[in-house]
Parts: sequence; structure tokens; C-alpha cells
Amino acid sequence: MNKRAFLKRAGLLAAGATISPVWGCKSEGVGNADDAVYPSGEGFSLPDLPYGADALEPYIDTKTMEIHHGKHHSGYVRKLNSALEGTEYAQESIDVILASISGEDTGIRNNGGGHYNHSLFWSIMSPPGENNLPSGNILNAINASFGGFEAFKKAFADAALSRFGSGWAWLCKNDENQLFVSSTPNQDNPLMSNIVDLSGYPVLGLDVWEHAYYLKYQNRRSEYVENFFNLINWGAVNGRLG
Ligand code: MN
Repeated sequence: MNKRAFLKRAGLLAAGATISPVWGCKSEGVGNADDAVYPSGEGFSLPDLPYGADALEPYIDTKTMEIHHGKHHSGYVRKLNSALEGTEYAQESIDVILASISGEDTGIRNNGGGHYNHSLFWSIMSPPGENNLPSGNILNAINASFGGFEAFKKAFADAALSRFGSGWAWLCKNDENQLFVSSTPNQDNPLMSNIVDLSGYPVLGLDVWEHAYYLKYQNRRSEYVENFFNLINWGAVNGRLG
């Protein structure tokens, strides 16, 4: 299946691909969620966090959030815009770009992936105690695909812990709307169907780069992964499941 066919089947190109709600970000201040998905005159923009930098305490600390969003993500956006200059992708949405590139498009691969992955990451978390258990369609899909929530948690944590070095753990849906867990290195992403082994539409992602947890957890990635389950915004994940 080619990329456009894949995206179409994944519902991404339908209805003018009004996919800004996938981020679940509030459009406040300068970082409009639409500008994170679609390039404007200035290219892509850094979306605002949908909550305060301190909102995920005590599981993700304020300083980490400030640096992660304000420095790392912002750097991916800047370098993505620079990598896109003069290319055929300059006017495309980020989803279409990621599904179209090859492994040789290094600057777009690393920074486009970085932009998409972090925009997704912020949007699928919420303060602890709000929405942190799955229900409805996402719970039914998890039960059908994994045989229960605990089995899913184990599969997802295994993917996060076995990723050597930097990368991401994913919960994705395939063309048949079934869920699967995968992992990618660096800033690769399941939408990159020309690059990754298992392509699909990511509904949940966890950043396991050291910059995501080292200030608070140092080498204890497993503690960070376990605590992430206290922060998942299952309402937002449900929204992505569609
Ligand atoms: Mn990161």
C-alpha cells in the first residue's frame, strides 16, 4: 500500500485531514495546535503544553518539562523548518511528510519525527488523577488485542525498557483497527512506513530518551515507565483511536 493509500485508510487524509484535535492541545498563546500540524508562512510552530510545566509532578518534574518542551521540542521544530526549505514537502502536513519520506531524508526524518512525537506526547498526558484509567472504546480495543489491561501494560513497558539507547514505545492501530505495541529508535515514528518495520497510526507514545527522565530518575528508566501510567490521558488516546 502506498503512503497516501495508507493515510487515507487510517483516516488521515479524509475530510481535509482536520487532524489538529489529535494533539488535544489548547490553542492558547502563540503555539496554536493547527500550526503544529500544518505549516504556515513561517513553517511549523511549537504547540503550547496543554497544562502547566508543573502539572505532571511528581511523576515528571517541572524542570524536565521546561527543558523538554522549551528546548528539545522547540529545537526539532526549528531544524524541521530549516530541513524542509526548498523541498517538495514544504506545504504538506506533518503526517503526510512522515509517511512520504525515505530513510535518506535525514533532517526531516529526525526533526519531523521529533516534532510529531513530542506534539503527540504532550497531548496524551494529563495531571495525575484525571482520566488515568482507560474506559470505553480504548479499553475494549485493549482487551480485544492484548487480553486485558495488565497484559497491555506489560507489553508496552517491555517495549519501552528493551529499546536500547534513545527512542520511543508506541501503541498503534493497524488498518483493521487492531492495536499493537512497537518501538522505534531515535525520533522514528510508526507513520514512517518506508522506514519502520511495523507501520501504523500511533494512539499513544512514550519518550524513552534520557532527556525525558534523567534529571529525576537518572538511570532508573523502569521507574519512569511505571509512573508514566499515572499520567496517560485515556480520553485523548480514545480520541485518537477514532
Ligand atoms: Mn524527547
